[in-house]
Amino acid sequence: VNSYESWGGYPKTRSSTVIPMYWPETIRFDQIQGSVLPYGLGRSYGDSCLNDGGILIDTSRLDRFISFDDQSGILRCEAGVTFEEILDLFVPRGWFLPVTPGTRHVTVGGAIANDVHGKNHHRAGTFGCHVRQLELLTSDRQRIVCSSHKNVGLFSATIGGLGLTGVILWAEVRLKPITGPWITMETIPFESLNDFFELSISSDAHYEYTVAWVDCLVRGAEMGRGIFMRGNHADSAGHAYEKPHRLRIPCNAPSILMNRLAARAFNTIYYRMQPRGVKQQVVPYESFFYPLDRVSNWNRLYGKSGFLQYQCVIGKQDAAYSLKEILTIVANSGLACFLGVLKQFGSVVSPGLLSFPRAGATLALDVPFRGSKTLRLLDELDKIVRDASGGIYPAKDARMAASMFRFSYPRWETFVEFIDPCFSSSFWRRVSSGGNACERC
Ligand SMILES: Cc1cc2nc3c(=O)[nH]c(=O)nc-3n(C[C@H](O)[C@H](O)[C@H](O)COP(=O)(O)OP(=O)(O)OC[C@H]3O[C@@H](n4cnc5c(N)ncnc54)[C@H](O)[C@@H]3O)c2cc1C
Repeated sequence: VNSYESWGGYPKTRSSTVIPMYWPETIRFDQIQGSVLPYGLGRSYGDSCLNDGGILIDTSRLDRFISFDDQSGILRCEAGVTFEEILDLFVPRGWFLPVTPGTRHVTVGGAIANDVHGKNHHRAGTFGCHVRQLELLTSDRQRIVCSSHKNVGLFSATIGGLGLTGVILWAEVRLKPITGPWITMETIPFESLNDFFELSISSDAHYEYTVAWVDCLVRGAEMGRGIFMRGNHADSAGHAYEKPHRLRIPCNAPSILMNRLAARAFNTIYYRMQPRGVKQQVVPYESFFYPLDRVSNWNRLYGKSGFLQYQCVIGKQDAAYSLKEILTIVANSGLACFLGVLKQFGSVVSPGLLSFPRAGATLALDVPFRGSKTLRLLDELDKIVRDASGGIYPAKDARMAASMFRFSYPRWETFVEFIDPCFSSSFWRRVSSGGNACERC
């Protein structure tokens, strides 16, 4: 079994040779045959963390905390430290991550390499906005410290750089002060995409975190209905803090379970279960930020054939029209889509040459992999995104064409200059015209 898979389980790769990295000296680039790619916890859905037939450098053993300044909140840690480890150590001390994705099972290196975003993008931008400096190990054995003042080009290529510029050894990130482990959370059902946009605009000024679940299978007048969630850090809930329990999926479920009927029933029940009007609760931060982490290995529910997540961003002007088109195609496609997540990105500029977030609306959809039917559907969605001058997120992608990538990331040619010649990935070989030519490999 190749345990170094991506989260979606698609595409399958040949077992890669894996080198666990304990110290920078562990990796002897001069003795390596073939291209290399750093691997964090494999929480990328598609092939950006895979290197089919090549070598993966497992960075999860670079897991040491280096320093913390309790005045400024500046944390320096190795790149394999996970968000869960940071939260476990620092939330009780009154500090929180400046930006977090929807899972805490990611490494600092992986979060930088995909320049991840969270529910506070409209306020805080991406994770990369909070990285003060980092150290990169390149295949010519240089160790290069980069920041927005030093080796600036390499810094902006490494943030969102998909692991292709070298191995991030450590990074310095500014944590933010919080008053406790609680979130005041409000959920509000909405009936259309227009309602979503209105809620989003009115909430962004008062709520640090906003996101919505959208029913992606309903057609007709109800299309675009969903549940809006917003929240702020809270002092206390009036009772003792208890970590939410976790469940585990022991093995792959039969793929047939994730069918359209089940998806439609799930979406309808979820929507109908929410009380009408605004519901307010004070919840542990884990329940608000990481509801999916409560079920470890929930990706196994999709069975052996796996699933894809399609995440696009569309500029403000075209968002309402294009998202409606996308939801119509998905609802009419016959494919099961269990999860749809909508969020309005703010206008904070992302620091990476290949960062995904930009001002506009982002939609993420989970679809089980059903061969060419699924791929054809997603190609159709690409056309809409392209017509609206939008982009697709590499961290979730396993299939976009090279032309779509270049369209989504117009600065890709500048980025190419910073790629380490010994580094490559399955994703990169797919979206570029070929691999990298390393003289030693
Ligand atoms: C349930 C779930 C929810 C998610 N929600 C969000 C979300 O809300 N927002 C969002 O932006 N993303 C989200 N993601 C995606 C996830 O945050 C990213 O894919 C993240 O980068 C995964 O981190 P990782 O440590 O697992 O890295 P991997 O997936 O192993 O690798 C990701 C990339 O980082 C590179 N890399 C890893 N370590 C290093 C290193 N030390 N040096 C250089 N490069 C390195 C790899 O080469 C690869 O290109 C979600 C994923 C899941 C499973």
